[in-house]
Amino acid sequence: MRETPPTAADPWDEVPGRLRARGLRWTPQRRTLLAVLAATRGHVTGAELVERCRAMDPATIPSTVYRTLDVLEELGIVRHAHGLDGREEFHVLPAADHGHIWCSGCLGTWDVHADEAAALVAVLAQRRGFRVDLSHLSVVGLCEGCAGEGQPGREAQRAG
Ligand SMILES: [Zn+2]
Ligand SMILES: [Zn+2]
Ligand SMILES: [Zn+2]
Repeated sequence: MRETPPTAADPWDEVPGRLRARGLRWTPQRRTLLAVLAATRGHVTGAELVERCRAMDPATIPSTVYRTLDVLEELGIVRHAHGLDGREEFHVLPAADHGHIWCSGCLGTWDVHADEAAALVAVLAQRRGFRVDLSHLSVVGLCEGCAGEGQPGREAQRAG
């Protein structure tokens, strides 16, 4: 079961104690990762986090970063979703639950807000008793621009 997200005025203040409660020592490497996460906005891959930690502390060990991220996700401090290639992208302290749509044409990505996914979430709950984890949902397709370009263009290519 997921724990409730932090509620302190500065949510980062309670992280060392919560990590210790999970049996993780509060080490310089973890301090570095927390500093990097606190300065992160939007989406970031695990590899990017390792790189940013290395810039601050060359002794950073990737497995420590990933293990700490796993625990931070259990604590509700980060969430992960998946990019087009399946790799994990992390969100730090997401203000709201959101999913993602990816365009396989231009590789663009956009957030899907809870109200936009409400119909899908409701029908899966009603018909299948299925609870959608919206922040983990990624839908691949074509954006308006790429879908518009694709239709006449593909016909022309086939003809030529
Ligand atoms: Zn996943
Ligand atoms: Zn596109
Ligand atoms: Zn997102």
